[in-house]
Amino acid sequence: MPINYKEYHPQWKQISKAIVARGKNQCELCGAPNNQIVFRPVKGSELPRPWYFDGEVDDCGYKGCYTKIILTVHHIDSNKENNSQLNLIALCQKCHLRLDLAKHIYNRRMKRLGIIRKLEAA
Ligand SMILES: [Zn+2]
Repeated sequence: MPINYKEYHPQWKQISKAIVARGKNQCELCGAPNNQIVFRPVKGSELPRPWYFDGEVDDCGYKGCYTKIILTVHHIDSNKENNSQLNLIALCQKCHLRLDLAKHIYNRRMKRLGIIRKLEAA
């Protein structure tokens, strides 16, 4: 989904760049390196880490895929106006999706139950 910069701080690009730099240009959860192509083993693989550089594993025996890591900055409390350094974290696509998945499942359940519509109408 494309980012709507109108929802973010006017200096969001500089803020997010500083957060990525704070994390030494790596995902702050799994350590995946920004702008590098890595091998991602599938869930359930016996490999102990979530990513590998090309040539680190013999990929013939492992299921997974090669992917380019693009770091994005996540608001931990989901409040895009809270740009405190403590509320921001640089994440790879996989870690970002994993964190957002719980939020999306929660929102979908609340909508299905009609709770969000009731709260928005109040
Ligand atoms: Zn990650």
